[in-house]
Amino acid sequence: MACPLTRELDVAGLSTTCNAIEDSTLASAPAGSQNRLGERAGSLEDISSSMAANTNGEVQRLGNYIPQAEEPVSGGTRLEKMSRAVKTLIECLGEDPSREGLRKTPQRYAEALLSCTRGYHVDPHGIMNNALLMEEYSGMVVVRDIQVYSLCEHHLLPFTGKIHIGYVSSGVVIGLSKLARIAELFFRRLQVQGRLTKQIADAIMDIVKPQGVAVVIAASHLCMAMRGVQETNAMTVTSSFMGCFEQDVSIRNEFRSSVGL
Ligand SMILES: [Zn+2]
Repeated sequence: MACPLTRELDVAGLSTTCNAIEDSTLASAPAGSQNRLGERAGSLEDISSSMAANTNGEVQRLGNYIPQAEEPVSGGTRLEKMSRAVKTLIECLGEDPSREGLRKTPQRYAEALLSCTRGYHVDPHGIMNNALLMEEYSGMVVVRDIQVYSLCEHHLLPFTGKIHIGYVSSGVVIGLSKLARIAELFFRRLQVQGRLTKQIADAIMDIVKPQGVAVVIAASHLCMAMRGVQETNAMTVTSSFMGCFEQDVSIRNEFRSSVGL
């Protein structure tokens, strides 16, 4: 049963324009928090439709762009140098990198690694360009279940899970798909989960300047599942609460219930 304090709306069309958000909702502030957060002007439907319109047709995920693969670095292009290193790794495993199945693996792996870390080359301010909308809306906006695929910087093995983002506007709202793209530009890097959580919150705080931001990530790490203690079901949960989310436990709890935590 839905939380009686939280009214959820489907954002029409978002699923077709933003693959990263599997289940996107706008959650209204509970009645009791409206005075604290200021008067809401305009209906949730208005806000919802303006956000959906803003995402329509403009979503360009970070895509399969391979960052500067052909850029010269010492000893050849970036791709050539990485490919040689992967070939060395394969040799050190006792494998024959020239056998049919492995012949193209060094270049494939180098391209995959560049693709998985393409977030280094994207400017968050560029993503937000023209995506900030002036709205007299001071309720809570929540986007939940943004899929995360990142690489643990300690083992270069993937960690995957979900990111939930909430913010309370100070009069500026942002297209919902942009929150997913902000998340993506930071998770497409070598990461540790705690820093990733903080970086996403900092970027939203810096660019949108809301009353507060909440970011929670729940992820499982292959470096725990495949090696060491082989904790296959362990989930790591990290959170960053800033502004009103840090100061007011009831706002924090409202966010938690919105994302099912
Ligand atoms: Zn690790």
